[in-house]
Amino acid sequence: MAKKKNNKNIIYSFRFNFMWIWAGIIAAIILYSFFGEGRALPVTSEWNTVEQMIRQGEVERIKVVNKNTAQVYLTDEAIAAYRAGDENSRFKNIPEQGEQLNFTIGSVDILDRDVKQAVEDSGLEDNPVALEYFNESTGWGDVLLNILPWVFLVGVWFFFIRSMSRGAGGAGGNIMNVGKARAQEFDKDNPDKRVTFKDVAGLSEAKIEIMEIVDFLRKADKYRELGAKIPKGALLVGPPGTGKTLLAKAVAGEANVPFLSISGSDFVEMFVGVGASRVRDLFEQAKQKAPCIVFIDEIDAIGRARGKNAGFSGNDERENTLNQLLTEMDGFQTNAGVIVLAATNRADILDKALMRAGRFDRQIDVGLPDVKEREEIFNVHLRHIKLDEGIDRSFLAKQTPGFSGADIANVCNEAALIAARNNKSKVEREDFVAAIDRIVGGLEKRHKTMSQAERRATAIHEAGHATVMWRLKDCDPVLKVTVIPRGNSLGATWSVPDEERVHVTNEVLEAKLAGMLGGRIAEEVNYGTLGAGALSDLERATKITYAMVAYYGMSKKIGPISYYDAAGTRDTFTKPFSEHTAVEIDGEVRRIMEEAYQRARAIIEADNEKINQMADLLLEKETIYAEDIVPILGASAQTKDAATEPATEDAPATVAAGVTVAD
Ligand code: ATP
Repeated sequence: MAKKKNNKNIIYSFRFNFMWIWAGIIAAIILYSFFGEGRALPVTSEWNTVEQMIRQGEVERIKVVNKNTAQVYLTDEAIAAYRAGDENSRFKNIPEQGEQLNFTIGSVDILDRDVKQAVEDSGLEDNPVALEYFNESTGWGDVLLNILPWVFLVGVWFFFIRSMSRGAGGAGGNIMNVGKARAQEFDKDNPDKRVTFKDVAGLSEAKIEIMEIVDFLRKADKYRELGAKIPKGALLVGPPGTGKTLLAKAVAGEANVPFLSISGSDFVEMFVGVGASRVRDLFEQAKQKAPCIVFIDEIDAIGRARGKNAGFSGNDERENTLNQLLTEMDGFQTNAGVIVLAATNRADILDKALMRAGRFDRQIDVGLPDVKEREEIFNVHLRHIKLDEGIDRSFLAKQTPGFSGADIANVCNEAALIAARNNKSKVEREDFVAAIDRIVGGLEKRHKTMSQAERRATAIHEAGHATVMWRLKDCDPVLKVTVIPRGNSLGATWSVPDEERVHVTNEVLEAKLAGMLGGRIAEEVNYGTLGAGALSDLERATKITYAMVAYYGMSKKIGPISYYDAAGTRDTFTKPFSEHTAVEIDGEVRRIMEEAYQRARAIIEADNEKINQMADLLLEKETIYAEDIVPILGASAQTKDAATEPATEDAPATVAAGVTVAD
């Protein structure tokens, strides 16, 4: 049976394009050259035929072109005779004008000799076959062959220049504009783009600082009268996604001065000198608009410390760009009325000259939000989401320690997507929990094939983590334990710090290590085998231990020394310590790990029966919460502790808290 074509919905549309015109012209030329005017073409022949014709006195002259082709011109009578002759003759359609035959010759000398011989043989008195020699070019073909490679080369060159100048910030894609800075002027009258401080949640100190800068520009006289100098710039520093760019956009939306925005990478170009010229151009534009704010996002692209990679001369261009920025910000020229805001994740790698007072006078820290700020950020991002009434924003904020503003925006969106996938009319609490789980742990893989024995081993592993963390008061309280595979892990134990502040001490880290090793030890105690599934636990534990010894100075033997290199400028081939110290560091790392191991093992051996009970419950329910663990293990060490000694709210925060997941 013939296959039925289902092409009902296909709509063929013809779109006009200049390429069609070109294709038409080329096709016309080709067709004309083949069939134009119905022209008769000379017959390709061979010497024997021509010799015959010479003997009969039919040839008027022979034109030898480029020493390889002979064009034969017949006498008028011969042409007339052939054209009037037999229908089947090869020569019935020979042209009346121009050459009638042609053939390829081997050598000019031989042709000359053969023609003379044929003339002689003809015995005719008047048979002056003229031999003429010509060198002819093939006309257009030759010209094209010579020119085409150049056209091609110039075309390729032009294409590259155009795409480079367009792609990397050259204005308008014109090569002449490659040195121009493509700064965007913020259009605050466009309601779609306008961001105000209402859209930026939390960050109250940063907002005050940054608004003050706007005030400097607007009421400069007030400050100058008192003899104060107007700051030249402010640097927004903080981890990714904490709202630095958003804050700058809000300044643009609120300030009544022009706002030019550009990214650090827009200065970077393949051509030498382009970066510097773009910096000059940017400040030129800004000065014309003064008072004005210039915002450079991701300034580390050009502001990285100079001279660190002396061996690689490729940095010269970046250094030139940076030098130009330094001079523009505080050089001989005045740039009164221009304030530069810049954002970076890595203030530590910036050049010291850029950071000094007089250039970026102020450094504004935009850190990860605390629980209150997270609640405010949730409020901002939940504004446009259809929510179930029961959603408690403070619960969401508590579930997301260590999340940045961008992460929270992502949670809100992900929750809405999950609710839509389940055809709900409102986003519910469980959708948010699923979104947080997904963002922290990765995609759920419920359908991963696992044998019953493997599932039980995973349950034992997770119960091991949970039990050790439950028993040690310095561990973060366990939130839930699950054996649903997610991302790369087969199960997970979630713990979330109760309070926001985490004053990290060696005791906290040692307890954390024991908790991480708990999973592997539980498998070892119950099965007597060592599983490879504990890889990520071991990797994390080893990193923490190295940090304790080599960075935080927590080992008595090594002493209060830190080999940490915040700027990341040390070369990777040499160690900052001797071989002897390296051996000692290794020894200390091993000792700390061993102690953590013994501590966890003691707990697991004592509680092994309960661990098995917990594993059974896990296999039955897949996910269990802290309230399910209480009947098995009793109250957790953290809650017992909290009952006797109330938590202090204002302890100094040294390391940001975050959800911890032990796989
Ligand atoms: P990066 O350093 O990676 O460029 P950034 O600090 O500049 O990051 P933004 O681009 O400002 O981060 O923030 C990304 C998104 O996160 C914003 O568009 C916004 O949706 C959300 N966000 C971040 N912080 C906040 C905040 N304080 N209030 C509301 N939304 C926020």
